[in-house]
Order: sequence, then structure tokens, then C-alpha cells
Amino acid sequence: MLQGIFQTLKHRFGQKLRANRNAFGRKSLKFLLSKLEHMTLRLSILPRQKSDHSLERRIERHYHDLQLNASDYYGNLLATLKHSTEQQLHSLLRLLLPWLGKVQTKRGQPLPVEVHGFGSFGSPFYMLSTNTLVVPLSLLGPPLYSPGQSELLSYSSLGFILGHELSHGFTPDAVRIDSRGRAQIGIGLEVLRNRRFRDEATCLRFRFGAEQLEEKFADANGLDLAYSAYFDAAEGDRRWDENSIEPGQTSTLRQQHFFLNFAQFFCSDEDSSQDNDDHGTDRRRVNDAVANFEPFQQAFNCSKSWFEKRYRQRTQCRLY
Ligand SMILES: [Zn+2]
Repeated sequence: MLQGIFQTLKHRFGQKLRANRNAFGRKSLKFLLSKLEHMTLRLSILPRQKSDHSLERRIERHYHDLQLNASDYYGNLLATLKHSTEQQLHSLLRLLLPWLGKVQTKRGQPLPVEVHGFGSFGSPFYMLSTNTLVVPLSLLGPPLYSPGQSELLSYSSLGFILGHELSHGFTPDAVRIDSRGRAQIGIGLEVLRNRRFRDEATCLRFRFGAEQLEEKFADANGLDLAYSAYFDAAEGDRRWDENSIEPGQTSTLRQQHFFLNFAQFFCSDEDSSQDNDDHGTDRRRVNDAVANFEPFQQAFNCSKSWFEKRYRQRTQCRLY
């Protein structure tokens, strides 16, 4: 199911790239499309193995040098951070020194994960070095997923999350790296110099600050992709799963349902004032993603202010 959603999102983003609002040159466009085409989705951060036994052996080998002590919490923390940092350094080296590109992470190897504080990864992430989107299996449970749930629910939650991560491959920083994790200075500069791309990046920077640019782009683009993947798919393409719709439910209600379930993802009992540097608070994330998003305005019949109608049409900043 996740792979299916991922393919639909890729398809939608491919259509968007091909529409080429930015008027990218042939080389830039080919580069972006190739990166999209080669992006893969991997379930679970564990190596793919045939048997539990060999998986266990692999993990043992991976952590071979790591010495942990049952009674030394802080010592263990330091030791594991050191272990992760070394992995990270290794993948960073590969990014900076593209001729080492051949030292690719083999498919079966454990993935180097980035360390945010002391957390382990409970949410999906995009790996620039392998152009891979990694989804931990722990994600596939309520409230995001229950077996047999309607496509509307899947697209508005999981679809958004995958769309968000996919977008991370196309941020101003990420367009310098190709689909095999190698730096491509020339083509990266060509994309970055594109006038519309530059203007839109400035728009994002102006609205959210340089620190949040990438995340805000990923949120807005991810929502757009998930929404259009679900609603705009060609007629006949989409089999409306009727069990998700109350009898007589109009498409407006369906749209509202989509946005409400999207917002629900951010619902938590955590203190919303606890700001996250990159993403902003959850409340802001929801509002920033839907603000000026036309389908949202339609769904909830948002009226434009007198000023907006008269002087300017506010739009979202869109890199593509
Ligand atoms: Zn993100």
C-alpha cells in the first residue's frame, strides 16, 4: 500500500516537473526527473535479509566495536553517539568526495541514521546519500494506519508524510546531489540560478526564515502532492472507495475530511509552545501548509480580505 501511494506521488510530482513552470533548461529538467525516477522507498531501517539468523549476525557485526555497560547510562549514550557519528561521517565523506561514489551503501547494509539529540527514529526520513525514503514499520499503526482504511485517510496522512519526505530530495540544498548521492556542482548551480526557482526560494526565506525554508517547502509541497494524487487523478484512474463516504457526501465534504485528517496527524498532547527549530510548532505547521492553498480555501469557503481582493493575490511560495 505504501509503495502504491509512493508511486502515485512520484507520478504527480513528475507531471508537475514536466509542466515546467520554471522553464528549466533541458539538462536541469532531465536531472530532476532522473532523481525522482530513481528515488526509492524502503520499509524499515533494518537490512533486508532472508532469515532472522543472518539478520541477527549482521546486526552483531554492525555493532561489533560498540561496548556497552549495563550500569553506565551516560557512558552508553556517549558510546552510541560516537558510533552513529562515525557512520554519519562516512556518508558525509561520500557526499563531498563524489569519486568515492562507488562505496555506495550496499542494499543489505544497515543504514546510517542521523542523530537528533538522543532520539531514535520513529518517523520517516529521506536519505540524500542513497536517494531513499526510509519508513520505519512502527509508523504503520493507528492513528495513521489501520488495515482496510479508506484511501482518503491513507492519502491525507501517510500520503502527506511520504510527499513531505519526497520533497526533501528537491530542496535548494538537495538539488546539488544526484540520484546516487554524488555532488553535481554544475547542474546544481543551473537549477539554483533558475529565475523562478530563485524567486520562490527567496519568497520562502522571507516568509519563514532560512532555517525553516526546507521544512516549510516540504510541508506545502507534500500536502499539494498528496491532495492532487487523491483528488485530481484522471477520471477512471481513481476508484472512489465508497465505504469512506457517507451517502450524499459531497466532494466539498470529502475535501474538508481530507484536510481535517491531515491536521489530525499533528494533534498531540505535547506542549505546542515547545518549538522545533526546523519545523516550527505543530500548530504553525498545519496553518502554514494550508494557508493560501487554493483547494483548502475552496473546501472551507475562505473569503479573501478586501485588501487581498483589491491589491494582491496572495499565493504560496512554490519552488516548482
Ligand atoms: Zn522534513
